[in-house]
Amino acid sequence: MSSIQQLNLAFSNAVNQFEKTTGDCRTIIPRYVCSKTTDFVATIEPKGNGYVLSLSSGLAEKSSQLWAEVFTNVGLLENVFAKAFLNADQMTQASLVWLILHEFHHIDLKHFELARSFDVAQRSRAGSPQKFLNISRLCLEMQADHEATEMLLGAYSPDNWQDLREKVLAISGMMMLIELEDSQNGAKGRTHPKAATRIFQLLGHLAEMPLVQAQIIQDASLIPSQDELQAFAHDVTIPCFFDAIELAQIARAVSIADDLGTLEDFFKDLEIAKLRDPSRYKGLKTQGAQEWAKLWPYNEALKPILGGDFDR
Ligand SMILES: [Zn+2]
Repeated sequence: MSSIQQLNLAFSNAVNQFEKTTGDCRTIIPRYVCSKTTDFVATIEPKGNGYVLSLSSGLAEKSSQLWAEVFTNVGLLENVFAKAFLNADQMTQASLVWLILHEFHHIDLKHFELARSFDVAQRSRAGSPQKFLNISRLCLEMQADHEATEMLLGAYSPDNWQDLREKVLAISGMMMLIELEDSQNGAKGRTHPKAATRIFQLLGHLAEMPLVQAQIIQDASLIPSQDELQAFAHDVTIPCFFDAIELAQIARAVSIADDLGTLEDFFKDLEIAKLRDPSRYKGLKTQGAQEWAKLWPYNEALKPILGGDFDR
């Protein structure tokens, strides 16, 4: 499949997914423009009375390259794909669909009331924002991540563990690609949270998924059994952490693996973060959790303005 075909398919898959989850949403779906360039471009911005999403063939090419490399090194991620019949094209699709859903959510969450455009890994054209605005933008990225992840992963079911593992890996891969692009901004500063911060939020969401339904309906009888919760941690959440570490190695993003930290520290940090008690945050050990904790109060301040959230 050519890069342009990959993008076209991902766009229509993302639209279908969005419509399936939210019902009628034609007001949210942007016009889609695709450019042939090696640059890594995914930009969403208002135009006329709607929005335009620009994607580049380079974005699809870099995603395909990453997954092609994973499948030639499949020994490393063997466990993920052992039972599945996925190939590099399907993983590329999942990564691209997640990114496009992320862009749709900048519209849905009304982020354009605070910023003029969102570029993946490119500096904003909207002048030089002050520190608050800069940090706020990172929070908006975390919010869009959260919504896109929730939409792509769907609701918890005891029957979709393998599917969850593949999707979480596809999302982690896109987060790493964005960080690798972002690091080329160098002295100009990052436009997105660190991949480790986004993966910290992603795995936090994953770990909580079996409990969400019971929380929403306030019905404790919907909480799965202790055995099922333990099996889920053992078979899904913990392996997803190691998948991310291995993927970072394949992507030659050693700093991302370092930022994720050790299994023990990462999951201890998730436990601390879950308490939502800033006085405990000084105990956080991993880089991803530390950035998460730095952004959290800013996100709390933004909530009354925008209503978006990046935790659950
Ligand atoms: Zn974004």
